[in-house]
Amino acid sequence: MYSSSLAYAIQQDKEDALAPLREAFHIPKTKEGKEWLYFTGNSLGLQPKLTEKYIQQELNDWANYGVEGHFEGDTPWLPYHEFLTEKMAAIVGAKPLEVVVMNTLTTNLHLLMVSFYQPTKKKFKIVIESDAFPSDRYAVESQLRFHGFDPEEGLVEWRPRAGEELLRIEDLESIMQEQGDEIALLLIGGVNYYTGQYLNLKAIADIGHQHGCMVGIDLAHGAGNISPELHESGVDFAAWCTYKYLNSGPGSLAGLFVHERHAHNRDLPRFSGWWNHNKATRFNMRQPFDVMPGAEGWQLSNPPILSMAAIRASLEVFDQVGMAALREKSEKLTGYFEYLINQIDTDRIKIITPSDPRQRGCQLSIQVKDADKSLHNALMEHHVITDWREPDVIRCAPVPLYNSFQDVYHMVEILRKLL
Ligand SMILES: *Cc1c(COP(=O)(O)O)cnc(C)c1O
Repeated sequence: MYSSSLAYAIQQDKEDALAPLREAFHIPKTKEGKEWLYFTGNSLGLQPKLTEKYIQQELNDWANYGVEGHFEGDTPWLPYHEFLTEKMAAIVGAKPLEVVVMNTLTTNLHLLMVSFYQPTKKKFKIVIESDAFPSDRYAVESQLRFHGFDPEEGLVEWRPRAGEELLRIEDLESIMQEQGDEIALLLIGGVNYYTGQYLNLKAIADIGHQHGCMVGIDLAHGAGNISPELHESGVDFAAWCTYKYLNSGPGSLAGLFVHERHAHNRDLPRFSGWWNHNKATRFNMRQPFDVMPGAEGWQLSNPPILSMAAIRASLEVFDQVGMAALREKSEKLTGYFEYLINQIDTDRIKIITPSDPRQRGCQLSIQVKDADKSLHNALMEHHVITDWREPDVIRCAPVPLYNSFQDVYHMVEILRKLL
């Protein structure tokens, strides 16, 4: 169904109902004023043009109202995070009660583990993927140590088989059959940052729950990319950042999901601050702590409004399109990208991302034979921004919100010439 001609790419862009969305983003330019071919929306999403307006609005409110900005203006700061909840919940397939925007990703993982990693002497191990993102690994190791366990013993790695790159669900089942009695928590990247593999969250949740474990998902590479249907999947909790596919700016705040089944459990251990205390009496100041139901019950502090303004702008763009339409274009665009790469007559590169669209998002990870960073650097010299990951992978993500079929065509033409 795909074709390798430039005419095909031009035609696809013409027929693409989402193509005009590119205009809603700032596309970075080279010193010579030429647009970069930007394939790193998986690392830092591009800036929506709306962002400046929304941040400016809060700067104006601060200038005009001072502290009264908490109550005044179109978007008062006191309930500001609530303006984000519904749209964020729609992106990850959750109920509004289950989602809140707060803190940053690794912080949220820790706060969630305070509640959902309750080890006993016998049941204390944590399962992660063998190539989990370093921050997740460090977080989990430190949780094990914090509870008095040795990570050497307590950390269980779900790894690809020898000679393979991808994870198999049967291997997780085997781990659980062998060590399930000792495992307390599964903390898995829903879309692996390195291979781009999108795992079956429902299958992982079921396997974990069968063995009496809690199941948490890191959705850093999933949110805004795939449709994880978090509520339906049944996972206990999840967290994700907003600066990758969610285009909310460097270091911006993160999302947090706690499944409805835990929403009203006041007995869960958790850390607290005034922001997870009952809104109705928060400012009475002398009230005993009264935890809020749902995901809001994990907040600690009053949040940074300027960062939330950027998230509000970005979510508005997502809301205009909806994940279903985005995902449809994404599958097509990524399939086209894969098709073109496979047309290159070379044995120097290999795509390690699954070819089944249900098992990937928009990222393709290209493994380079006998790699050093030179191919990646050469791409940069030809104004293609991709992302190099040691030891040998170039990660590229054609993002359906702002990448075009012609971007993909030109990128692969450059790659072909370099090879
Ligand atoms: C990007 C990413 C992080 C980054 O963590 P921060 O706390 O936002 O710095 C962590 N985990 C995964 C899986 C990521 O992809």
